[in-house]
Amino acid sequence: MNVPLLDLKSQYAAIKNEVEAAIAEVMQSQQFILGPKVEQCERAIAAYSQCSFAVGVSSGSDALLACLMLENIGPGAEVITSAYTFFATGGAIARLGATPVFVDIDPTTYNLNVSQIESKITKKTRAIIPVHLYGQMADMGKIMPLAEKHKLIVIEDAAQAIGAEYKNRRAGSIGHYGCFSFFPSKNLGASGDAGMVVTNDEARAEKLRILRGHGAEPKYHHKIVGGNFRLDALQAAIIAVKLRHLDAWTAARQRNAQLYNQLFKARRVPVTLPVVATGRHIFNQFVIRSSRRNELQAYLQSKNIGTEIYYPIPLHLQECFSYLGYEKGAFPESESAAEETLALPIYPELSQAQIEYVVECVSECLAN
Ligand SMILES: *Cc1c(COP(=O)(O)O)cnc(C)c1O
Repeated sequence: MNVPLLDLKSQYAAIKNEVEAAIAEVMQSQQFILGPKVEQCERAIAAYSQCSFAVGVSSGSDALLACLMLENIGPGAEVITSAYTFFATGGAIARLGATPVFVDIDPTTYNLNVSQIESKITKKTRAIIPVHLYGQMADMGKIMPLAEKHKLIVIEDAAQAIGAEYKNRRAGSIGHYGCFSFFPSKNLGASGDAGMVVTNDEARAEKLRILRGHGAEPKYHHKIVGGNFRLDALQAAIIAVKLRHLDAWTAARQRNAQLYNQLFKARRVPVTLPVVATGRHIFNQFVIRSSRRNELQAYLQSKNIGTEIYYPIPLHLQECFSYLGYEKGAFPESESAAEETLALPIYPELSQAQIEYVVECVSECLAN
C-alpha cells in the first residue's frame, strides 16, 4: 500500500468543477491583482476567523513581515518567539534588523512555554509572535495578559492553524494581528503562494492595505515604505471556493487523528501521541514522537509511507542565526523535539485502511 504524506490530487478531484469555474471567472474579468475577488475572500476569511478585518497578502511570510513593518519594528527592537517553528517566523524578525529572542517550547504541545516568556522581556522588547504549531493554538490566555502588562504587540503566527480555537476563540482573533498562510500544503491551500492578515483593529487594517501596495495612498503618493505584498485574484478565488470545504476537511483530519490515537493505544505502540490541550486542534500535522525516530522514518519509507520531520533544526541552531550566540543545549525541549518528532499522513482523504497500515508499520518497526 502507498500512503503519501499529503495527496492534493484527491482533494482537487472532488472540487475540480468549482475551482475551474472560479478560475474561469477571474480569467473573464482579466482583473488579476486585488479587486472584488480578493475583497470577497478577505470578508470570508475575516468572518471565519471571528475578526472584523482581513487583508490579503502575498504569503504567510509576508503577512508576518508586513505586521512587523507596520509596528516599526527594526534595529534595536527585540521580538520574542518560539525556537521551534518554521523558519519564516524568525526570518521575518531578522530581515527587518530586529533581534529574534527565542523561548523554548512546552514538550506536550510544541508551542511556546509561556512560563519562560517574562524573563526574556527587556526594555527593547516590542512584540511576541506565538506560533500555533501543527494546528493547535498556543496558550493565548497566558500570553495576552503578559503582553498587556508590558505593552507588547502580539502577532499570532497562525499559518498552520486557520480555524483552530483557544477556548472557542479562533486563531488570529486574540492578538493584535493573526497571520495565515495559504501555501498549498496548509489546511486551506491556494494554488501557489498566498497569505492573509486578520485583525480587529480598523486603523491597523487600513494601514496594512496601504503597506501591501508600496505604502502608496493615494496612488503614487508614498507616506511610508511598504512592499509588494498583494494577493492575486486567482488565488483569492480558489481560496474562497476551498474555504467552503474547510470545516468538512478539518472534521476528517480530526477523525483520522482519533483513529490513529485509538489504534496506537490499542496496540500499545511505544510512541508519544499528540496532546490536545487548548481547544479545537485542526491537525495541520499529526506528529508522533519516538527516540527511534530516524530508524522509524526509514522503515516507513521502505513501506511506501510518506513522513516528514518538522523541524530537524530549531531556529536558535540555524547557521544564519549564529550571530545571536545561542549554544546547543540552550533550549533542550526544542532540541529533543527536533530529534524525536515525526509527522504522519493526516490529510482528509486518507482511508481507514491506509491509517491501519501506517499504525501496523509503526508498530512492526518499534516492536523489534
Ligand atoms: C507556512 C508557515 C509560514 C510561512 O507561510 P508561507 O505562506 O509559506 O510564506 C510561517 N509560519 C509557519 C509556522 C508556517 O508553517
